[in-house]
Amino acid sequence: MNIIRKRMNLHEILEIRNLTDSTFIIRFEKNGLEFTAGQHVCVGPPNGIHTREYSIYSAVSDPYIEILVKEVQNGLITPVLKKLKVGDSVVVEEPVGYFGLNGGEKLNKKFLFIATGTGISPFHSMVKSHPELDYKIVHGVRSHIEGYERDEYDKLRYTLCSSRDTSGDYIGRLTNYLQELQIDTDSEVYLCGNCNMIHDAYDILENKGIPNERIHAEVYF
Ligand SMILES: Cc1cc2nc3c(=O)[nH]c(=O)nc-3n(C[C@H](O)[C@H](O)[C@H](O)COP(=O)(O)OP(=O)(O)OC[C@H]3O[C@@H](n4cnc5c(N)ncnc54)[C@H](O)[C@@H]3O)c2cc1C
Repeated sequence: MNIIRKRMNLHEILEIRNLTDSTFIIRFEKNGLEFTAGQHVCVGPPNGIHTREYSIYSAVSDPYIEILVKEVQNGLITPVLKKLKVGDSVVVEEPVGYFGLNGGEKLNKKFLFIATGTGISPFHSMVKSHPELDYKIVHGVRSHIEGYERDEYDKLRYTLCSSRDTSGDYIGRLTNYLQELQIDTDSEVYLCGNCNMIHDAYDILENKGIPNERIHAEVYF
């Protein structure tokens, strides 16, 4: 790799998968970056000074890194990322964050992963990095098209809650589904997405007797 590109943290884009009109996956060169599933990277356009945080979507052993991005209208960075093409580069900073499975001692537990929208991304990385995980995913979206690459998960372990159409496995808000769900109080529960959902879900989980130390949260906005 060119030493100047390395110093500038530039990573070439290898693939782009458009999942909806606004949501896409960018695959870029790994260039030796190591991470644990659940961590995020700061990514930005090649010539800009601004970056934003993105959870890593790909598995730890993949020879590339992928992120799942939703374009925010009038946002500073996502409209620029949306215009990039294969062969362009992105600036990528070192993976960071504590939203992970915390090492091998925990991997034999039961996991409940709760996400809204692109908040599914770290859970995709966890499931793909640790195929032996005993997990359930509850994914809250407006419409089924936001069930991003849902075939990647074991059908019996993934529940799509769609609030604005009738295409989900559960028709209604994710929080309504959680109210009805029987949750094993030994589970490690992970929440990822917008702060309103995380706030409401936290209350529901506490009322169901899940101890605070087993609830982990990553707030996107
Ligand atoms: C730890 C962490 C991990 C993240 N991982 C992801 C990820 O995997 N995928 C992803 O798409 N985003 C992720 N985000 C959000 C991301 O960092 C940016 O905030 C987002 O992409 C918007 O950037 P922007 O520059 O286009 O908009 P900005 O100009 O920064 O913001 C415009 C406005 O949009 C709001 N906003 C941000 N995200 C959304 C959204 N998804 N829907 C609606 N409004 C929003 C912001 O709060 C702000 O008010 C993550 C954030 C954090 C803190």
